[in-house]
Amino acid sequence: MIYSARDNEFYIKNLQDFVPSKIFDSHVHLYNSRHMSDHDLPEIKTPMNVDIEYFKEMMRKFLPDREIQANCFPFPRKSLDIDLANKYIAEEVEKKPGFFHQMLISPDISAREIRTMVEIYGFRGLKCYHLFSNHQPTQNSPIQEFLTEEQVEFANTKKMTITLHIVKPRSLSDPENLEVINRYAKDYPNAIIILAHAARGFNSWNTINGIDSLKRYENIFFDTSAVTESGAFQAIINKFGHQRLLYGSDFPVSHIRGKCISLADQFVWLTDENFQNFSKRNNAHHFNELTPTLVGYESILALKEAAVLMDLSIKDIEDVFFNNAKNIEAFQ
Ligand SMILES: [Zn+2]
Repeated sequence: MIYSARDNEFYIKNLQDFVPSKIFDSHVHLYNSRHMSDHDLPEIKTPMNVDIEYFKEMMRKFLPDREIQANCFPFPRKSLDIDLANKYIAEEVEKKPGFFHQMLISPDISAREIRTMVEIYGFRGLKCYHLFSNHQPTQNSPIQEFLTEEQVEFANTKKMTITLHIVKPRSLSDPENLEVINRYAKDYPNAIIILAHAARGFNSWNTINGIDSLKRYENIFFDTSAVTESGAFQAIINKFGHQRLLYGSDFPVSHIRGKCISLADQFVWLTDENFQNFSKRNNAHHFNELTPTLVGYESILALKEAAVLMDLSIKDIEDVFFNNAKNIEAFQ
């Protein structure tokens, strides 16, 4: 992962004054690449061991002089040894004040197995992911096929958080997704449901169009991770209040260079690599003068755009970056 002088310059000019002194990063991946197959490694150049020390080292450059706490979980891959990855996370956060962990689950892991792991390793939450769904393609999976009711019921008994990255093309505008989130949130009020990526609002309109049908249950939250356009953040602040929005970097996705942009009713990751290939193939030399920065900075810039346009106060911004997460019992 490369952090350049230009990134730093961009940060100082555009973001430094906006980012508060205390950060709770609600969406951090830690992993050891030995726990997954080589063909399945995340498409980000990282060392073998992406541990808390490495996270802190990268964050010292990314958000200098900020006090950082975090919610950490494995990097879900199809070939990942989930059991090893969970034990790795548990060892990492042990005796590290301010660092919390979620257990990665597949739909085959029973509530009894989760209970055993929670009793031994003290997980504060669950992280589910569509890759483990039996539905094909998994990108179209209904929520209950990768987060079972039994698992939510268990999270409810322990007041655990659940980071849920919904899928299906319409994300939050999908009626089936809405039905399941509303039902889980209503029936299990002590389970804290964190809808990752502003409810997968990579195309803002999916969150904007769906959010009115999401009930205002107290246990529904959203994280900002890897979303680089501000529409979904504005919809959340407008309908749920800024108190339900949690800052998340999606480390190490934060350190991909590029941006995720809306395109018609879809979205596309415009990464540095795609960008260079495009400009080479098309002999579009003027593209060479453009210098993309980090996805993590683009996401904070989108959050700043929402904050400016919606007149958030300094206190409101501090809430999004820190207090909202710390008001959740599982992160105390
Ligand atoms: Zn993530």
